[in-house]
Amino acid sequence: MKKIYQIGAKKFELDQTKAEAAFAAKKVILGRDTMTFNLLPLKYQWAYDLYRTMKANHWEPEDIPMGKDIEQWNDPGFLSEVERWIIMMGVGYFSAAEGIVGDNIQHVIRELMTAPELKLVLGRHAHEENIHADSLLYMISSLGINPHECEAMFEDVETIRKKNEFVTNISRDLRRDLDLTKLENKQLLARNMFVFGQCMEGTQFYGLFGMILSLYRQNKFPGIGQMFRYTLRDESNHIELLRSLLMELIEENPEIWTPEFKEDLREQMRTAVKLEKEFISDCLPVNSLGLRAEDFLQYIDFIADRRLEGVGLERLSEGVTNPLPWLAEMMDIQKEQNFFEGRVTEYQKSSALDAVDDDDL
Ligand code: FE
Ligand code: MN
Repeated sequence: MKKIYQIGAKKFELDQTKAEAAFAAKKVILGRDTMTFNLLPLKYQWAYDLYRTMKANHWEPEDIPMGKDIEQWNDPGFLSEVERWIIMMGVGYFSAAEGIVGDNIQHVIRELMTAPELKLVLGRHAHEENIHADSLLYMISSLGINPHECEAMFEDVETIRKKNEFVTNISRDLRRDLDLTKLENKQLLARNMFVFGQCMEGTQFYGLFGMILSLYRQNKFPGIGQMFRYTLRDESNHIELLRSLLMELIEENPEIWTPEFKEDLREQMRTAVKLEKEFISDCLPVNSLGLRAEDFLQYIDFIADRRLEGVGLERLSEGVTNPLPWLAEMMDIQKEQNFFEGRVTEYQKSSALDAVDDDDL
């Protein structure tokens, strides 16, 4: 089927059948090899929708006032030793972790995808990790924390080193031309998506999210808390992105999803939970006002099981309840009006103006 445009003496023939074949060849991996980055027609509508949601949540660290945090940090009587240590562990862990995720998204997952709309949303994901890494830099410089101490924490705090090593090992294996026609390599990619999305961003980020936002609820570190709320909201989109991507990959390549492989992923989660619990014990060596280590340990079991169930895997524990039900509400930022001069609302408004009805695509 061809459509002909006759413009003056020139004739153009547009081949609809060929274009439809190109669309049919759109795949998560091993799809049509093209450099044209043609988004339309969309095959993975969810990926484009998520891209728009992520874009509407845009924020910049320096929009958040740090005056109160600086005052509190410099007041020797205001904070306990543990409260200061939680902030140190927060900047020490996340300074490395955000960059590790962004780098893996950009140089492993995004590289191996062949559908442009998947590359689009993953590009946004990588950018959000840059914003998160930048927010850590902003916190460190605002409080006047020695950046060498922060760097030293990557190596010298054993539980941080082990968490980072757990994920960088999963990433390193894929930094080469990977022959994705081989089942073992498809499984390496699927494992990478699972470990980064569900184990790291989905579980190992939540110990500190819980602790820092507990302090924020006590009106400690309002600026840092605000940034972590924005980060938490972004992470929930990243977890969903990598979950959906894994599900699409498995749907298109069902041979990946063997009983052995499923067990392997549960084992990865088991390791992630163990490392996170050791890390929490380092963050909170003694209980602090309103922060009990056992609540955070229980929360990790709870959230790990939710992540496993989200990708259709059996949970690791039985009947663990959520000890921090308020944490989910911390993501609900849109309802509030008077954040840093309503900037987020402005971003959302301007992006709503050029919104295209999804049904038109
Ligand atoms: Fe992040
Ligand atoms: Mn993330």
